[in-house]
Amino acid sequence: MRSVRKSFGALEVLRGIDLDVRPGEVTVILGPSGSGKSTLLRTINHLEKVDSGSISVDGTLVGYRRSGDKLYELREREILKQRTRIGFVFQNFHLFPHLTVLENIVEAPVSALKRPRKEAEAAALALLERVGLADKAKAYPKQLSGGQQQRVAIARALALEPSLLLFDEPTSALDPELVGEVLDVIKDLAASGTTMIVVTHEIGFAREVADTVVFMDEGRIVEQGTPAEVLEAPQHERTRAFLSKVL
Ligand code: ADP
Ligand code: MG
Repeated sequence: MRSVRKSFGALEVLRGIDLDVRPGEVTVILGPSGSGKSTLLRTINHLEKVDSGSISVDGTLVGYRRSGDKLYELREREILKQRTRIGFVFQNFHLFPHLTVLENIVEAPVSALKRPRKEAEAAALALLERVGLADKAKAYPKQLSGGQQQRVAIARALALEPSLLLFDEPTSALDPELVGEVLDVIKDLAASGTTMIVVTHEIGFAREVADTVVFMDEGRIVEQGTPAEVLEAPQHERTRAFLSKVL
């Protein structure tokens, strides 16, 4: 991301974001509520358009940018194609309630990637195995706990074999005893080299799993570095103040 700016009306929510995420690494974004973390993730996946600046994923331009006086906008078809390369896991799961677990996972591979249904189902079952839910393929979302629903949502995101996975507070809607099972799945993905950006307030997870920790406040990246640098020896007063509240 280079010089990314985004406003909602008079409110500038992203005030010039520069961020590099290396392949295979886990980047954890921390910051107070309203600092722009969700908006940042959403611009990467075309859920919000940026006002200026550029974002590229795997060398492909995402969203749009201003170059000189010219504004480049991507066509709808290109946007859809790029979206299939970027998985997004939401705080509130966002599963399709009228579809079974298996149908939730095969929907996108079949409709967006035109995979044969049988093949997509076999892949979905393997993913359910991976998130520990092989026995829930025929269940409906409302029959599952929040932790199980979120693990299905992760399997669904993985079904597109994304080059980048985005998580927006994936455990914030869960009862405390269900947080661990979801973090374990994300840790497992990290160990297998999946490139991820994770917005979370789980400092222990950040310390254990992150390659880079980014602290945001008021639409800016205040500081970033290794977990040891940012969490144990923060350079900025605002980072220290935030950490003293969440630790
Ligand atoms: P965070 O995820 O760090 O809590 P957000 O990115 O959700 O922050 O929001 C940053 C700011 O932008 C907040 O003040 C929020 O109210 C505002 N905001 C987010 N989305 C919209 C929107 N679609 N329309 C107007 N304001 C928004
Ligand atoms: Mg948010």
